[in-house]
Amino acid sequence: MLQYAQTLPAIMRRLFQYLNPIAHLGHRNYSVLFPLLSTFFLAVFIDILVYRILADPSSAGLFAIALPLAFIIYFSFRDGITGGVISSVITILFYVYIVDVHPTPNQTEEQLTTQFITITALGTLYIFIALTIGWLKQTIDKLILQEADEKRRLQAILEQLPVGVLITNSRGQIIQGNKQVEVILGRKMNSELVVGKDTIPNAEKNHRSNSHISDKAVQASDWPLARALKTKKAVVGKEFIITHENGKKVHLQISASPIRSADGRVIAAASIIYDVTAQKELEARKDDFVNMASHELKTPITSLKLYMASLKSRFRKHQDEGIRKILKSIDYQMDKLQGLVSDLLDVSRIQTGKLMLNYEDFRLDNLVSETAESLQGTIKNHQIIIRKKSPVKVHADRFRIYQVLTNLITNAAKYSSDNKDIAIELRKDGNKVVVSVIDNGIGIDKDKQKKIFEKLYQVTDSKERTFPGLGMGLFISKEIISRHKGQIWVESEKGKGSIFSFSLPLPS
Ligand code: ADP
Repeated sequence: MLQYAQTLPAIMRRLFQYLNPIAHLGHRNYSVLFPLLSTFFLAVFIDILVYRILADPSSAGLFAIALPLAFIIYFSFRDGITGGVISSVITILFYVYIVDVHPTPNQTEEQLTTQFITITALGTLYIFIALTIGWLKQTIDKLILQEADEKRRLQAILEQLPVGVLITNSRGQIIQGNKQVEVILGRKMNSELVVGKDTIPNAEKNHRSNSHISDKAVQASDWPLARALKTKKAVVGKEFIITHENGKKVHLQISASPIRSADGRVIAAASIIYDVTAQKELEARKDDFVNMASHELKTPITSLKLYMASLKSRFRKHQDEGIRKILKSIDYQMDKLQGLVSDLLDVSRIQTGKLMLNYEDFRLDNLVSETAESLQGTIKNHQIIIRKKSPVKVHADRFRIYQVLTNLITNAAKYSSDNKDIAIELRKDGNKVVVSVIDNGIGIDKDKQKKIFEKLYQVTDSKERTFPGLGMGLFISKEIISRHKGQIWVESEKGKGSIFSFSLPLPS
């Protein structure tokens, strides 16, 4: 009994599916038997109803036209032209049968001709209706099948991709995706993954700006797909960390963009999900290595510097000029080495979020003058000129700001040919102070200007490659300035020179 109770709704559902013409859209399994038998039994039913039960031939017109017409429309829509035509033909045969078997009393020859003309007219109308609706239904089927083929083709391509792909409709419901999404997200993909609902748990945004990670839980509306749909703009390379059910942490890089219709409406959005865990691990290992290496190098270099100092003092008055020169060059090279190691250490501190700042109040204009003066001692081929300055007090890390200034001035010298002046300007601008280092050197291409502040980035074209360096200076400077809530930027034209500027907020 229970089993029957369970199967009954299922049977009803299947029956409804079978009868519902909409459920047959996009299918080409047009039935012949169903319209044939149904219309035949309908004819038998009308015959019995009109001539035997009601025994009222005058009602034949109503039943014999309305009901078969409904059947013809239904079968044309359910089974295409075949269904509609079969239903029409049976109905016409039924009409002939009625005229033949149930003639009107005292029927004249003329009446009979009229009846056959009526049957012919009705038959033509029915066939016409069957053809029109059937053709419409078959065209819709074709379009639906074409779309399904298109989707299958796209799906086949999506499955080949090494990245996860999700496509949503305009409401953010996922309508297509590939297996990789499930692998990367570590969960089955179903309609549950609806953007806009808080359905992707354990996700943290990887705030890698300034290169140290501070994890935060992510709102569903923060997911790139949701953002792309909301803002109608592409979202590129956002990083997230998600935790799989087995506890495995996965780094994701997600991009998304809205898809527009021909008239510009946003009709969908597509997202690409990269699993960058392996890359991140490699990066972390490299960072660890740099960290370890720079620490290991620091100690012997410091000792060497000490030995060097004592050697230098011993040979200060040595009569052999050659020895004194050699010692001087060793000392110079060691200073360079010490600078490199200290940069490496800074990069590693930035990576791990351990770059500490010691704030103090000091006169920035004085620091600029002191730095320019001390660098002029080593930069022999360029004149460093302070063009503009006024007394400005700032609250900042003096040593780190000195480091930024040194980097900008030495770069200005390094990337300009000899005898070209380097100018420095300091000016107040509202509630901040701006320092600019201006050179007339080789300049930087527009498309490279943003990149030079990235870690280990160096402009490499045949000319610049001759300049030594590791591309750490500007990266460190940018980090120092942004930690001070300031900005650093460059204005430059290839071949003409560059203006590197940074701003610091003034104490309120
Ligand atoms: P490094 O100078 O050690 O290579 P930086 O981070 O200081 O590293 O600079 C990054 C890159 O930016 C340099 O390799 C150089 O191509 C470019 N650059 C920096 N300053 C200047 C400048 N004043 N003029 C032209 N190019 C510059």
